[in-house]
This record gives sequence, C-alpha cells and structure tokens, in this order.
Amino acid sequence: MGITSHLVEIEKFISKHKHSDANAVFNAVKKKLPSITKATVYRNLEKMVKTERLTSFELNGRSLFEIKKPSHCHFVCMKCGKIFEINAPLINEPKDFKVQNISIIIRGACKECT
Ligand SMILES: [Zn+2]
Ligand SMILES: [Zn+2]
Repeated sequence: MGITSHLVEIEKFISKHKHSDANAVFNAVKKKLPSITKATVYRNLEKMVKTERLTSFELNGRSLFEIKKPSHCHFVCMKCGKIFEINAPLINEPKDFKVQNISIIIRGACKECT
C-alpha cells in the first residue's frame, strides 16, 4: 500500500462525508487500510490542505475537513449540531494579501429547531 492509496481513501471518505474531523477520517480509512496510523492520517490531511485539495475550518476546538470548493459559509445549529452550507457574503479581498481560505461560521438555530 503506497502513500497514494492513503490519499485516495482519505479523499474518497471526505468527499462523501464533508465536515469530518481527523478522528472520523482515521476510523473510516483504517477499515480499508488497517495498517494506517493516526499520525499518517494527520500528516496527509495537513498535506492535502497545503496543496489545496482540502480546506479545513475550526469548530469547537476541532478541525473539520472538506473538499476544496468555492468559498461558502457554515451555519451551525446550536441545538442539533447540524452544519449547513450557505453562500458566502461577498468580501472585498485585500489587494496586498493572498487569501487562501475564508472561513465564516454563523451560529443559531436551524429550521427544525426554531
Ligand atoms: Zn437544528
Ligand atoms: Zn462546507
């Protein structure tokens, strides 16, 4: 099993289960690649964020990962914990900086919980 298969399995899982944390990725990938270690999963996730295949954002002290796609915001329901994706507001990107990732989290109650 080479490094490529690690990446492929990680990417496959995250594309099906967006907003997963490293633990969830590890537990799922381990079922397919029993020899994979947690450190390998962490290292690969970091690498995939650096190469912009994935993006991550922090929520309640955990890093959640998803496949890189146009900027969107996350709405988190404080009651049921569900995460929704909503359109990102237009942000004037500062000219002198290279923006890599915009992460906005809006907290509240979802339709079912209001
Ligand atoms: Zn809810
Ligand atoms: Zn998302």
